[in-house]
Amino acid sequence: MSEPDAATADLHDRAHALDAGDPLRRFRDQFVGAESNLVYFDGNSLGRPPRATTERLATFTTEQWGGRLIRGWDEHWMQLPFEIGDTIGRVAIGAAAGQTVVADSTTVLLYKMIRAALGAARAASPARREIVVDRDNFPTDRYVVEGIARECAADVVWIDVDTSSGVTAELLAPALSDRTAVVVLSHVAYRSGHLADARHLTELVHEAGALVVWDLCHSAGSVPVSADEWGFDIAVGCTYKYLNGGPGSPAFAYVAADLHDRLAQPIQGWMGSANVFAMGPEYRPAPGMRRFLSGTPPVVGMLAMQDTLEMLADAGIDAVRTKSIALTDFTIEVADSLLAPLRVEVASPRDSAERGGHVTLSHPSMREVTARLWREDVIPDYRDPHGLRIGLSPLSTSFAEALRGLHAVRDAVADCR
Ligand SMILES: *Cc1c(COP(=O)(O)O)cnc(C)c1O
Repeated sequence: MSEPDAATADLHDRAHALDAGDPLRRFRDQFVGAESNLVYFDGNSLGRPPRATTERLATFTTEQWGGRLIRGWDEHWMQLPFEIGDTIGRVAIGAAAGQTVVADSTTVLLYKMIRAALGAARAASPARREIVVDRDNFPTDRYVVEGIARECAADVVWIDVDTSSGVTAELLAPALSDRTAVVVLSHVAYRSGHLADARHLTELVHEAGALVVWDLCHSAGSVPVSADEWGFDIAVGCTYKYLNGGPGSPAFAYVAADLHDRLAQPIQGWMGSANVFAMGPEYRPAPGMRRFLSGTPPVVGMLAMQDTLEMLADAGIDAVRTKSIALTDFTIEVADSLLAPLRVEVASPRDSAERGGHVTLSHPSMREVTARLWREDVIPDYRDPHGLRIGLSPLSTSFAEALRGLHAVRDAVADCR
């Protein structure tokens, strides 16, 4: 440990002043573990559980599942994918009701939605056989695209991006043509935290006559999205990151209303059919969002996210974004002051307008540093090349917690050099 100096004392005062003036600070105590000294920098990967969730899970078992038994399906559970979907649409992604549904994992929903979009684009114009995706998109997005290309005899067009940044209009435009069927992009890049200009990129895709599938995993609950206003076609996003739905909670999909009838997804199961309990001889897709379901809704998996959605409705996504920017700005300020002398670099955009809710710090020893920090109850995560991801979850992270964690990073880097 180095001696406390003037700069350190100043950062300490700043963290306390930022916490004291934080209009969202009352939310932190609503999370399990908020009272402990553990530093959690991974709310962008697996959010903390809200305290209310403990009670919700228990009463679900005793009263709803235990008490209502199979009657629960008719009474409420069948509606949950649509009800919670509409809430996500309202509080997190700027979607009017009837366009968002909670269904399968992100991976499976990406598969269903990209296949559906490819099918629709090709039906309109058979020459459209290209799927555009960037080389630094999340692995599952890239793998799903490659699998679909193989399965459907489509071609993948790759966009090369800098791993400290993300997809921009300049990089996207040359990849588009009258052969483009679908473009798959992440709103916030999982590695660098780069925030794409989703409205502008959507316009470019539409000018080329193609459809866009937005991955909102790292934005939902942290960065405001205006799916309707920005003209999105399709979006998919996680609920276990900033929406704190718990390990493996199901993902959501958004489909713009005017596309519902044009899209046919490939996993046609009974829950997506027009008359679920008719048990008819053949599949006919339901109207509206139901057609994007396949099997029985994961009701238990949809419980926890409801508590964070309530908090989000209360806090407002714009206030969440304001705090998120303050947290990432503060993190970069601390990194410049404490970590730059140890040759730690900021591998995220410095302009908050181009940055989502996390900051990636780069140094050759970050793999070792991460292992050591986990043993000390400071929990960021590691991403190649040499990246330490500092995830800052606006409802549950305090500025003092962030500063405490960054001090631990400094000490670990100093020791691992
Ligand atoms: C977390 C994440 C996923 C995860 O997909 P799962 O099917 O839930 O494992 C997909 N895409 C992005 C961009 C992510 O950040």
